[in-house]
Amino acid sequence: MHTSQELITSELNLSQPLRRPARLWMPKRVLFTPDALEEPFGQQIFERVTALNLPVEILKSNRITGLRGADSRETYRIAKNTLAVVKAPPGAFRLQPIPPSADWQVNLAEGCPAHCQYCYLAGSLAGPPVTRVFANLPQLLTNTARYEQPGKTTTFEVSCYTDVIGIEHLTGSLAECVRYFGTRPDAQLRFVTKYEQVDSLLDLPHHGRTRARVSLNAEPIARRMEGGTAPVEGRLQALRKLALPAEQGGGGYPVGVVLAPIMPVPGWRELYTGLLDRLAEALDFPCDLTVEFITHRFTPGSKAVLLDWYPNTSLEMNEADRAGKRNKFGGIKYVYRPEDMKGLQSFFYAEWRKRFPDAPILYWT
Ligand code: SF4
Repeated sequence: MHTSQELITSELNLSQPLRRPARLWMPKRVLFTPDALEEPFGQQIFERVTALNLPVEILKSNRITGLRGADSRETYRIAKNTLAVVKAPPGAFRLQPIPPSADWQVNLAEGCPAHCQYCYLAGSLAGPPVTRVFANLPQLLTNTARYEQPGKTTTFEVSCYTDVIGIEHLTGSLAECVRYFGTRPDAQLRFVTKYEQVDSLLDLPHHGRTRARVSLNAEPIARRMEGGTAPVEGRLQALRKLALPAEQGGGGYPVGVVLAPIMPVPGWRELYTGLLDRLAEALDFPCDLTVEFITHRFTPGSKAVLLDWYPNTSLEMNEADRAGKRNKFGGIKYVYRPEDMKGLQSFFYAEWRKRFPDAPILYWT
């Protein structure tokens, strides 16, 4: 039994910046399909993971099996510890629009090693939550040229279904994308991460055509709900490195912040004020910065999956406290009520503009 003083103290401790370095994800198994190993880029991944002494299995067929455990807990554990290198199916070459974040999504992988209790993938990717990396990435990249529109900057988002930095040490996929878009004057690559190991990106020839974003949240939310990711402090320092000019040892990238998912937890004004102050300290030099604000939402499908994955979560998903919004297919999602949204939005817009008057707000959702 905790006293109320103990609870307040533990809450305060949680709002202090956590300064430990992030752990790199090292899967317990790496599976290759025969098709993936035929791809030169698949071979490169093979060399990387064998150099890291990871246990590699070459499958007999192109189907990934052996991910199911005795119950959903065990299935989750097995899948989250597995990296599968596969060839993206033909459907991956038909790109989907992804407003408001970008014009099109391109996926270099599907599945993520982190353990966010609100995970955006819950309910959108079927089956056990394994991370599948695409060995035919170079073909997926050249395919994007069909979607470019001359005279306009067409944007491509690669982070919809994975954390691209969380797996970069194993795959080199993001570097491949950055190099590719560095050669495309009419396109822009966009990625976002909750990890901090960005050093391998700093010297790449991006030519200003990649916007590197980090996802940030209030310290207690990140600590409680974003398992396996880098602490907020590490992400802020990663953003600083990406944005600093090359002459100062940085990457010289256009950068961005994705503040997500925004949650009006107790004390949210103070917590998010503290976060924005820390961001202003990390970016205390002129840089090309944008921000995207995304409030928390869930669907009946994502809630069911998340409660299965994280039965003890403290994440609030109470339909009665939310507004239901229908999409054009009749599905429902639960967002904050209009009056709560208004209060949140005016706070974030004012606080952002106060600190970063020249950094555009791309959208609020
Ligand atoms: S980083 Fe993104 S994709 Fe990965 S677990 Fe967290 S919310 Fe899900």
